[in-house]
Amino acid sequence: MKFTPEKYKIEDKAHKPFIDSKEIWDIINSSNANKERVREIINKSLNKERLNMSEVAVLVKADSPELISEIKQAARELKERVYGNRIVLFAPLYVGNLCMNNCKYCGFKVSNKETIRKTLTKEELISDVKALEDNGQKRLILVYGEHKKYSPEFIADTVKTVYGVKSKNGEIRRVNINAAPLDAKGFKIVKDAGIGTYQVFQETYHRETYAKYHESGKKRDYNNRLTSLDTAQDVGLDDVGIGALLGLYDWRFEMLALVRHTNHLEACYNIGPHTISFPRLQNAEEFSCDPKYQVSDEEFARFVAILRLAVPYTGLILTAREPELLRKEILQYGCSQVDAGTKIELGNYSNKEKQEQDLRKEQFQINDSRSLSEVIDELIEDEYLPSFCTACYRLGRTGEHFMEFSVPGFIKEKCTPNAIMTLAEYLIDYREIKNAAKGWKLIDKSIDKMENKQVKELLINRVERIKGGERDLYF
Ligand code: SAM
Ligand code: SF4
Repeated sequence: MKFTPEKYKIEDKAHKPFIDSKEIWDIINSSNANKERVREIINKSLNKERLNMSEVAVLVKADSPELISEIKQAARELKERVYGNRIVLFAPLYVGNLCMNNCKYCGFKVSNKETIRKTLTKEELISDVKALEDNGQKRLILVYGEHKKYSPEFIADTVKTVYGVKSKNGEIRRVNINAAPLDAKGFKIVKDAGIGTYQVFQETYHRETYAKYHESGKKRDYNNRLTSLDTAQDVGLDDVGIGALLGLYDWRFEMLALVRHTNHLEACYNIGPHTISFPRLQNAEEFSCDPKYQVSDEEFARFVAILRLAVPYTGLILTAREPELLRKEILQYGCSQVDAGTKIELGNYSNKEKQEQDLRKEQFQINDSRSLSEVIDELIEDEYLPSFCTACYRLGRTGEHFMEFSVPGFIKEKCTPNAIMTLAEYLIDYREIKNAAKGWKLIDKSIDKMENKQVKELLINRVERIKGGERDLYF
């Protein structure tokens, strides 16, 4: 569903760089975070109105414990009020780590001669996907370095291979991509392979800092990266993900820049990014980053809470770069998707031997190496509803987060039942009966709470059909 948020319409032109560092700093420096203003802005967001850059600047300036706590509480409330208790699960799958760039923070940089380079063969890709399916995964993000080998045709081919792998009742129903920007023809080829979201992170929106961390390779071109998702939109790839790598530059600046990027896409294409990612810098082989802008756990939590309030209808992704306990805390502030059972060493999903982390084989270090079942158990324990739902994508419902946010009853009548059905499939297919009881209890409780009698009846019937062996039912 497309929309025109007229109130935020700005005079942007597609393909024209839109980040003005001075403008962003002027907005931050001139904002005044007095209590009344902060509360006014929080209320605007709770009333389901998106915030503009000046309002977001006030929230990032609010640094008294009292106001920070109010911001976090508001993010929690917005999440509960609007999104309910679902968390969508996915896993990253690294397809190849050849790379021609030299990003100073990344273990895959071309200058790193220690990295063990690898591109999965078709057979290896199939075994990894089988292993992921045998664990219960339904949604993957394929990740690639930037290299001539990873052409659009190659990426499309790997996507089709992944969709083609079926193991018992297992299948991958949505494949997202995180790879270098493509040209229009390339985006079209990848779109036609049936991808979900295409993610390109700007890493840092601050031009000088960007230049410092990307001295050589194609990725040096800041403008090209900044407007790359415009090119995707031009060919109808309207499901895109943006992101900033936190720790390269001031997080307050990156926050406003992410909002500015959102404005740009809305202004030029009437649709904002599907998701925003905010990976925090982790140690990597030959890591050489200035620690000046390191983001503490406390700042990170603030970042997520403010972003939730700033863009209430955009999906927020939290990854296993973050440790278990912090993930648990931050989930409350409105992240909608988390990865689980993550392995970022190439080919490792199908490798049965227990592996120690080896930075020579990884892009960076991860801090939550729990299995999918462990993450699911914790979510259930905390009364979150784990979801593998892919319905919107399958039904061509673009802008699902906006619908969740703005269409009355959408979450209760579509998302929650779909989460319940995918959880039921998971419990039957991938858990021993003795380990599934808590999951079924949560399903029963969630069904009991449903208000719409008609949907409730349909759902009860569908869960019975799933118990009887049917799969892939959705609203
Ligand atoms: N090579 C493509 C690119 O650069 O766009 C694909 C993405 S890269 C494999 C995935 C993302 O990992 C990067 O965009 C960056 O934000 C993140 N990343 C790289 N090094 C990292 C590190 N040391 N810690 C945390 N995240 C990192
Ligand atoms: Fe290559 Fe991407 Fe790593 Fe940069 S972040 S070195 S482009 S894999």
